[in-house]
Amino acid sequence: MTEGSIGAIRVNGRSYRRPTAPTVVICFDGCDPRYISHGLSAGLFPCISKIISEGFFTIADAAMPTFTNPNNMSIVTGAPPKVHGISGNYYLDKATGREVMITDASLVSSGTILAALADAGKQVAAITAKDKLRKMLGSGLRGICFSSERAREATLKENGIEQVEQLVGRPTPDMYSPDLSLFVLDAGIRLLETHSADVLYLSLSDLVQHSAGPGEELADTFNREVDKRVGRMLELGAVVAIVADHGMTDKCTPDGQPQVVYLEKALNNLFGSGSVRVICPITDPFVKHHGALGSFVRVYATGSVPTQKLMDAAARIPGVALVLDGESAAARYEMPPEKEGDFIALADTYTAIGSRPEEHDLTGLAGHRLRSHGGLSEQSVPFMVSRPLNATYRAIAQDRRLRNFDIFDFALNGIV
Ligand SMILES: [Zn+2]
Repeated sequence: MTEGSIGAIRVNGRSYRRPTAPTVVICFDGCDPRYISHGLSAGLFPCISKIISEGFFTIADAAMPTFTNPNNMSIVTGAPPKVHGISGNYYLDKATGREVMITDASLVSSGTILAALADAGKQVAAITAKDKLRKMLGSGLRGICFSSERAREATLKENGIEQVEQLVGRPTPDMYSPDLSLFVLDAGIRLLETHSADVLYLSLSDLVQHSAGPGEELADTFNREVDKRVGRMLELGAVVAIVADHGMTDKCTPDGQPQVVYLEKALNNLFGSGSVRVICPITDPFVKHHGALGSFVRVYATGSVPTQKLMDAAARIPGVALVLDGESAAARYEMPPEKEGDFIALADTYTAIGSRPEEHDLTGLAGHRLRSHGGLSEQSVPFMVSRPLNATYRAIAQDRRLRNFDIFDFALNGIV
């Protein structure tokens, strides 16, 4: 055993050093690399800019599909979805035919780095904006785990912490407010200031990114606020690593109308009603800002039309970039095969794929363009660590394209 590996923990086949300085990993939800490049040139990111110049920065690939839950779970497990079992927010249970939203930890099929570090004696805190993620992130974790959405309700028994509003100094934010994310960062800062955590995973919400692109005031204001908080964490001596769960792309026609393929409707029109069911795994209780429209769907053949015939027809629809049978999709994108549809469809860059128009309420978009994610166009994400890399990790970073779920490896093992 080398000196560096003393006390290392092993999770899903990878080992991680226990940190000697407080370590914060931020999942900057929906932070497309274009927000970073715009923010740097517009001066929104004095602190993130410092990380980029003094530490390490690259562009990495998110796990597929590029949705929030699969990628958050990949980040905290250091592994692709086939290992942890979460490949969407929402899926169709083939055995029962029921459509199920994934909000608890029962489908998480692997351990997490957070739980292992806590078991090794570290004080670990996982804070998420949306409560839908909390139980999954907290799977097996003996530590602090709560959401800003339900900060008010946190109890020592359930969340390992109470009186969060007093700790942060303001009330629980509205679920559709940018403060849902800023509250997560402020809670993390308070835990650092009070020496109540030495490993923190802070997962934000992509509400702002769904609503506003780089250069729009809502996004710029939000990004400035995030940067200030990153600065405070650096001031407190923390190692800060930032990654995103997915990027974000405009899904509109040039005149600003949502550009959408309603795939269930299109295929049932061609082959007769009841031929297919299309499941949009982006669906969650926060649909207001995207109408449950993303760039990746799973399709189930529910009638007598052969799957291959349905796939051929789907692939010919303008706006559909790629169609793959479930088995090939699972193999190519390292997704759990048992959760796959008969086939998947990916949208092209500026298109979203939905099911039937009735299932997608676009009234919540009033005032902003449809922006979403889920496919290959949203796979590139920023990846940064506030300290310089050691020689081994510099070599790894030169050798291969990094994944967003390498972030704990780089933050814990990769720094000098
Ligand atoms: Zn997200």
